Amino acid sequence: MSEHEQEQRQQSVEVATSSGEMNVFWEEGMLDHETGDGVFDSGIDPGFLDVLEKHPENSDRIRNMVSILKRGPISPFISWQHASSTPPTLSQLLSFHTQEYINSLLEADKNGGKMICSGTFLNIGSLKAALLAAGTTLSAIKYILDGHGKICYALVRPPGHHAQPTQADGYCFLNNAGIAVQYALDSGCKRVAVIDIDVHYGNGTAEGFYHSDKVLTVSLHMNHGSWGPSHPQSGSINELGEGAGFGYNLNVPLPNGTGDKGYKYAMTELVAPAVRNFDPDMMVFVVGQDSSAFDPNGRQCLTMEGYRDIGKIIRNLADDHSDGRILVVQEGGYHITYSAYCLHATLEGVLNLSHPLLSDPIAYYPEDDSFAVKAVDSIKNHHIQVVPFLRELNN
Ligand SMILES: [Zn+2]
Repeated sequence: MSEHEQEQRQQSVEVATSSGEMNVFWEEGMLDHETGDGVFDSGIDPGFLDVLEKHPENSDRIRNMVSILKRGPISPFISWQHASSTPPTLSQLLSFHTQEYINSLLEADKNGGKMICSGTFLNIGSLKAALLAAGTTLSAIKYILDGHGKICYALVRPPGHHAQPTQADGYCFLNNAGIAVQYALDSGCKRVAVIDIDVHYGNGTAEGFYHSDKVLTVSLHMNHGSWGPSHPQSGSINELGEGAGFGYNLNVPLPNGTGDKGYKYAMTELVAPAVRNFDPDMMVFVVGQDSSAFDPNGRQCLTMEGYRDIGKIIRNLADDHSDGRILVVQEGGYHITYSAYCLHATLEGVLNLSHPLLSDPIAYYPEDDSFAVKAVDSIKNHHIQVVPFLRELNN
């Protein structure tokens, strides 16, 4: 480490007191979910490839996230909470999922596992890991609600944001964030904002709160559309919620190739003003590093700098509205190295550190943000025209 870097790190450690600490909730047992190998996420061996790759949602990606937080420069800011995580109770699961769906998971587990939907394998040990992931996320939100800390990060797998009340989807079985949000509401929170920056539409979380005006779900994603029966939602700007929930699901489908500038523009022009109007008393920040420039599963181009900026914006919103309370929940992110680096940068942003602690090993990405800016402007125009609680943004 150079003298300059040492100095910067020292300064960052000094501001730790004012930035607060990051409480990380993590349990080893989540590594026991085996997803196998094949052609990408198919589980298929075509017979003509000498080298099959691991399923993208494998435990290596999470091992690197754990180790970078333990041994990377952010480590002095981290407080590890070995959660004594208990699996969620049945009633906690049923606060988000249907009994029928939970029964189907139990049945699949009892029968030794199966492919539940495309790319989504429930194997021996998978359900236990999924329950641990939901339980760990619940431990994290409880920690905040009980006043032990303001910023918690649930480092969990299998991921959850595609899991809908009635079905699994996209590597997800139980909606970890959704179950935690429901717990927050049941514990007295009045309005919860969920900001999802995974490259895929957080369709499961959206679906779970589609009829509620207590939960503002915002998802920034690539414009991938529906992908079959497990994912009937399109993620388009027209999926706005229904009934009392109308206007409380805001989709921000960004053009492929959107990078740091485009995301920042979407966050400052649209997401932050919407969250400010909603005035949440709890912020849930759903992170996936598959929106990075180098992810095998995404077509967006965020770099560490962009993740850091988004993390800071979320932190500022939380400081102004939810008394600084933020639950960060892990979703996708499949580049084994860069996902860990981008996570590091995101959490630096959430901690609002004055200097970057870790430099980017791969970027630069030559971003042309003109298309993204146009797309964001037109999405914003649409949302403020049709969503009642955003109309005042028109001025
Ligand atoms: Zn994703």
